[in-house]
Amino acid sequence: MAAERPLTAALGDGIVQIRLPMTGNPMGYINAYLLQDDDGWTLVDCGWKAADVFAALEAGLAEHGRALSDVRRLLITHVHFDHYGLAGTLRRAGVPVLAMHPRDWEMAQRHLTDPDAFDRAADAWIARNGFELIDAEGFVDELQHHRTELTRPTELLEDGADVGRLRAMWTPGHTPGHLCFLDRVSGKLLTGDHVLDPVTPHVGIWHDGRGDALGDYERSLERVAACGAAGALPAHGEPFADVAGRAAELLAHHRHRERQILYALERGAGSATDVARALPWRRRGDPFDQLQEMHRQFAVAETLAHLQHLEAQGIVVRDAAVTPIRYAVAERAQRV
Ligand SMILES: [Zn+2]
Ligand SMILES: [Zn+2]
Repeated sequence: MAAERPLTAALGDGIVQIRLPMTGNPMGYINAYLLQDDDGWTLVDCGWKAADVFAALEAGLAEHGRALSDVRRLLITHVHFDHYGLAGTLRRAGVPVLAMHPRDWEMAQRHLTDPDAFDRAADAWIARNGFELIDAEGFVDELQHHRTELTRPTELLEDGADVGRLRAMWTPGHTPGHLCFLDRVSGKLLTGDHVLDPVTPHVGIWHDGRGDALGDYERSLERVAACGAAGALPAHGEPFADVAGRAAELLAHHRHRERQILYALERGAGSATDVARALPWRRRGDPFDQLQEMHRQFAVAETLAHLQHLEAQGIVVRDAAVTPIRYAVAERAQRV
């Protein structure tokens, strides 16, 4: 990892990027963005709940002659702990407004009211899809629960809502209520975890349900590609110019993945874990069995997102009466 990154970067148009630490995580940091508005500053995302994150936020504000009392509102792109964890601390410190999409507020309540029960249910679901826990370390490291807290929003933002200089764009997929924010001053899009570069955002199925998260995600990518944004301000990595080009790359990646999955099914893979085991992983193309246990669970959840997307289109059928749940190419979709 590069040493000594500056804490903040002034990006012009009254936008400041603050790199908040993710200590111990390979991502390194998350970008929060401060935007100067008529009535004060808008903060988008806030890092997880930890003393070093709070200190970095205060130091970042101070670098630009500001304090927490100048922050008028906190907007959350989605309720993953690295984006939302510190929200309760900031509300108690006096930030008057906390806003997010209603679908992510529902998800936060489902995950965080009893996080251990939620983790056990996710483990059980992945196991039902053929995954054998070896280390029994479970899905989420315990520390995650200490880095977030359930904090009620003061406002819920629907698609198209204007908040100061920003316009909310509902982009479900990475989470059900993920929001991007289009800045009407600079024309740039705050992409949260929806569009990242070079990381491929995670889209996974972690519970038993008939939803089509990947279909939602692909439609959201098409929407973002067509919105005419002048550049991306992502939550991880550095800002980049070509939002539509990166969205097209991610769509092409998923189409390629889909072909690999159909090939694996045609060659006899049955469960989501069988399929995941037949695929190359990460940019290096690592074999499934060389991944750490937690990453193998993520791989199965991502494979399930593809399988459910194919099922939603009638290309794949599933038999949930057996354990593990089995998938097969639908007869009418088979090649002759
Ligand atoms: Zn996320
Ligand atoms: Zn994130």
